[in-house]
Amino acid sequence: AAVVGRRVRSRRKWMRVVGVLKELEQACQTPLSRLRQVVDAMAVEMHAGLASEGGSKLKMLLTYVDKLPNGSEKGIYYALDLGGTNFRILRVQLEGRRSSTIRHDVERMPVPQHLMTGTSKDLFDFIVASLRQFVEKEEAKDSPASTRELGFTFSFPVKQTSLNSGLLMKWTKGFSINDMVGKDVCECLQQALSRNGLDMHVAALVNDTVGTLALGHYNDEDTVAAVIIGTGTNACYFERADAIIKAQGLPTTSGGMVVNMEWGNFWSSHLPRTSYDIELDAQSPNPNDQGFEKMISGMYLGEIVRRVILRMSLESDIFGPVSPSLCEAFILRTPLMAAMHEDDSPDLNVVARALNDVLGIRDVPLKARKIVVNVCDVVSRRAARLAAAGIVGILKKIGRDGTGGIAGGRLKGGGSSSSSRSRRTVVTIEGGLYVEYRMFREYLHEAVAEILGEEFSPHVVLKVTEDGSGIGAALIAASYSSSESVDT
Ligand code: BGC
Ligand code: MG
Repeated sequence: AAVVGRRVRSRRKWMRVVGVLKELEQACQTPLSRLRQVVDAMAVEMHAGLASEGGSKLKMLLTYVDKLPNGSEKGIYYALDLGGTNFRILRVQLEGRRSSTIRHDVERMPVPQHLMTGTSKDLFDFIVASLRQFVEKEEAKDSPASTRELGFTFSFPVKQTSLNSGLLMKWTKGFSINDMVGKDVCECLQQALSRNGLDMHVAALVNDTVGTLALGHYNDEDTVAAVIIGTGTNACYFERADAIIKAQGLPTTSGGMVVNMEWGNFWSSHLPRTSYDIELDAQSPNPNDQGFEKMISGMYLGEIVRRVILRMSLESDIFGPVSPSLCEAFILRTPLMAAMHEDDSPDLNVVARALNDVLGIRDVPLKARKIVVNVCDVVSRRAARLAAAGIVGILKKIGRDGTGGIAGGRLKGGGSSSSSRSRRTVVTIEGGLYVEYRMFREYLHEAVAEILGEEFSPHVVLKVTEDGSGIGAALIAASYSSSESVDT
């Protein structure tokens, strides 16, 4: 009788865990019909955000980048890329003609956690100190640049007032330096440069998506949009000036401008939201903001998985007694989630080790490890498919999704909208989540093809750029300082 009782109890606890998994799967469903709704909602919100200031949760920010680099850029430029887990300093050498690889040196380092929530002075002094070391090292081995010009990639929502000025609207991705909100980001950097005696001019302020688009377009002129899927997520694209209703009369040299969508803040009732998302949002430093980002990007996916495993652990003892580590927010990072998801060892050793080392859960039976892999799969698949729908939403807005809808979004003049059906369209993508998480990438590609359909999807190319956000900022700084027009 005791044995039978134990068996029944064991069956029940497995059923409860499987129930949690089934419920998650149900809530995260992204059938094609739903993805189509997200595509449409994205395109609609883009229109609304362009129509008026605050017209949508999509900010659709002006970037003052009204032409993209074309290869004529020449000289040595620096770039500083701040906005995620790591920051990067680059020195870029431009030859005045297109080259398949741009010569550059780069140094990456993690942003110390305490500086992400301290003061702007501490953050910028630290950055400038690293920059100075880098400049000294570079100039010791190479001739110094005549004037040091810098492109500053700053990957947060910024309300720009010119190519090299802009006010920080709010922080995302766990950064929270209150004294900087509402301040001119370029000025903060420029002041830190002079405070620390480093002679350098901040020539351009760009979002990472914009830098990525610049390099993507430099490499391939059919590039119309750039997407970042890393710690955070966002996209930008080239928009016709007359479609930017809220900025009527804005002078542009090319008849258009790059728009930073800030799609991380996109929201639609069609998004498949779960109780885990709701709780994660409520406990985040920016509740009600960045809803799309919180379902998609690297900062959050591991955390969603942790919350699901915690629920399973609370509902049964298949993970033993509830481990204190499992209760710790953000302890399960997305790279580890990816490693568990992609564990192809027969007895899921990677999963076992991750659960043991990071979450303090020991001796997990194989059946439970498989469930963990399932959870990772559901969470990353939803994320990838939603990002795919976002990408197609942009293509739809600019008439490049093959449905022959709204025409336009041309980077160069000429060409009739009828040819937009078959024109090659490139979207460039960057960010650790996309680049390093194979399953995520595959799900994304699969979903883009699924939405676009067999006939049209060959016309859309998704391309990775490397260090585009930084190199692109240098390219933009170069392209504006070498031209007679513009720069305020
Ligand atoms: C920021 C965007 C940025 C994206 C990717 C988001 O959290 O708001 O400005 O482009 O992360 O880094
Ligand atoms: Mg980045």
